[in-house]
Amino acid sequence: MAIIGIDLGTTNSLCAAWQNGKSVLIPNALGKILTPSVVSIDDNGTVITGEIAKQRLVSHPGKTASVFKQWMGTSKTFSLDEKEFTPEDLSSFILRSLKNDAEAFLKETITEAIISVPAYFNDRQRTATRTAGMLAGLKVDRILNEPSAAALAYRQHGIHDGTSVVFDFGGGTLDVSVLDSFGNIVDILAVAGDNHLGGSDIDKAIVSAFFEEHTELGKLWEDEKLPKEQFNMLIKTAENCKMALTDNPQVFMIFSHNGKEYKMMLNNEKLTDICSPTLLKFNNAVKRALQNAEKTLPRIDNFILVGGSCRMPIVKEYLQTITQKPPLFEVDPDLAVVSGLGVAAGIKERDENIRDMVLMDICPFSLGVSVRKGELNNRFSPIIPRNSALPTSRVEHYSTIADFQTEIYFRIYQGESLEASQNLLLGECEIPVPPLPAGEAAVKVRFTYDINGILDIEFHVWQSGEKFQKLIISDNQLTEEELQKRLDALSKLKLNPRELEENKLLIARGQRLYEEYTGPFQQRIENSLLEFEHALLHGHSLQIAKLYEKTSIYFDHLDLLLNNLLFTGEIDYQDEYEE
Ligand code: AMP
Repeated sequence: MAIIGIDLGTTNSLCAAWQNGKSVLIPNALGKILTPSVVSIDDNGTVITGEIAKQRLVSHPGKTASVFKQWMGTSKTFSLDEKEFTPEDLSSFILRSLKNDAEAFLKETITEAIISVPAYFNDRQRTATRTAGMLAGLKVDRILNEPSAAALAYRQHGIHDGTSVVFDFGGGTLDVSVLDSFGNIVDILAVAGDNHLGGSDIDKAIVSAFFEEHTELGKLWEDEKLPKEQFNMLIKTAENCKMALTDNPQVFMIFSHNGKEYKMMLNNEKLTDICSPTLLKFNNAVKRALQNAEKTLPRIDNFILVGGSCRMPIVKEYLQTITQKPPLFEVDPDLAVVSGLGVAAGIKERDENIRDMVLMDICPFSLGVSVRKGELNNRFSPIIPRNSALPTSRVEHYSTIADFQTEIYFRIYQGESLEASQNLLLGECEIPVPPLPAGEAAVKVRFTYDINGILDIEFHVWQSGEKFQKLIISDNQLTEEELQKRLDALSKLKLNPRELEENKLLIARGQRLYEEYTGPFQQRIENSLLEFEHALLHGHSLQIAKLYEKTSIYFDHLDLLLNNLLFTGEIDYQDEYEE
C-alpha cells in the first residue's frame, strides 16, 4: 500500500508519492500541485478547502480561515460560521482533501502519510501535526523536518558529495540547516532558525511603511477604526506587491478607504530598507547553524535556497553578500520539500531503488527540566542537548533538596535559555519519593527522543523502584477518548466533492471579484455569475462547458486588470471588455 508524503505548509500544501523509482507530485482535483492551506464552510455546512476557499477569504471572511499552521499545538481556535475549529481540525481538512487527491491519482486507498514540519517546530506542534493526521484518517508514523526533506530532494537532484547549507525561508518560519552528504547518506549536523520569521513579516513591514507614508490611515488602524477585513486586504495587497517585485522593477501599492485612494511606490531598493530588520536576522541564524555544525563558510560546498520567500531578489542578493557564494535555486522552492517527502516515502516503503539511502536527523533544540541550583530556583538542566543525533536516549539524576520531601516536582522545558521559565514549558508532573534526609531520595529521568522529534519520558525512583512514564500533562493535548470524539464530530462534516471543484471555483472567483471591483463592473460580474449558476441548475453539459469557458475568460480579464493596477498605479475603468 502506498505511503504519501505531505508538505503541510502555512500558505500551500502539497503531496507526493514514490512511483517507478522516482518522487511523483500528486495533482489536486483542479490539476494543480499546490493546494492553498485555506478552509471555508459553505451555506450547507460543507467544508471547502484549497483554491476555492482561498477565493472566499475576500468574499466570505467570516466563514474562512488561513494561516493556521503556526497555531498548531496552542489553544487558539478559529470561528467559522459560528463553529469553533482548532488548528488541528483545520489542518485535518487539508490533509483529508490531499488524501482524496492521492487516492484518485494512485487509484488505491491511502492510510499512511509522512508529514513535514519546520525543523524548529516544538514538541507540542509535532504532536499536533500527528493529531491532525489522525483526524484525517491517516497514520503518521514519520514526521520529517522540512529542510531535511529538501536535502533529500537535492540529493536526488544530484548535488555533489560535501557539506551544504539549506536556507529555508517560507511564509512563517526560517530554518537554516547544515548537512553532509556522502554516497547514500544525508547527515543533518545542525539546525538553527526562528519559528516566527517568514514572508508574512515582510508583508506586515510593507503595511507599516504604507502607514508611515499615510499617517492618517495608520492612525485609523492604531485607534482600531480600520476594520480587520480592510487590514487583511492591505496585507494581501502588500504580499501581491512583494511577489510582483520578483520580476518587475517597480510596483504601486494602492488601497481605497472611505472613498479615498492611498498609493505607495515600491521597488527593490525601498523594499530592502523596509526589510532590513528581517534580513539582519539571517546573519545570526546562519552563524548559529554553522557554529553548531562546527563548520565555517569556506568549507560549505552548496548553499541551497528553499521556501517561497527565497524567490525575493533582495533575499537572494543579501544571502550572496553574507555567504560570498552563489546560492543554488535549482529545484522549484515550492516543490523541494514535497519532492523530498516522496523520496522519504520510497525509503519507508523500502523500495529497492532507494532503500539503501539513509537520512540522519537531529534534535534542533535542547530538552530538559528546571532545577534549583544553590540559592537559585528556575535553572534549566538540559538532558538532551540541541543537535543530538536522532534517535537519542539520555539519563540524568535529580535528588531532593529538603529533608523528608515527599515528592519531586518536574517541569519539562524545551529551549536554550539558562533560566528555565524563558524556555517552552512542555508539561509538568509530580513524582512521589520516600521521605528521607535532603539529597538521599533520587529520581532517574530518562528522555527518549525518537526520529520524529517526539519526546518520551520515564522517571525511575531509586529507593522505591517505582517507574512512571509519559506523565507529561500538556494543557491542550487530547486524550484518546477526546480524540475519538473529535474524529466522530469531524467525519460528519462533508468535504466538497472533487468533481464539483472547477465550477465552484469559478463561482468563488466571481464572488471575490465582485468584492474587489466597484461600479459597472460589479453589475456585470453579478450577471455573469447568475447566468452561470442558472446553467448549472438547468442547462445541459455542453451549455455549462461553453458558459464555463466564456465566464472564465471574462474573469481572467478582470484579474489581469487588477494586476495591471500594481504596475501602473491606475485602473482603466474605461477598458471595455470585448467578447
Ligand atoms: P512557503 O511557506 O515556502 O510556501 O512560502 C510562502 C511564502 O513565500 C509567502 O510568504 C509568500 O508571500 C512568499 N512568496 C511566494 N512567492 C513569492 C515571490 N514570487 N516573491 C516573494 N515572495 C513569495
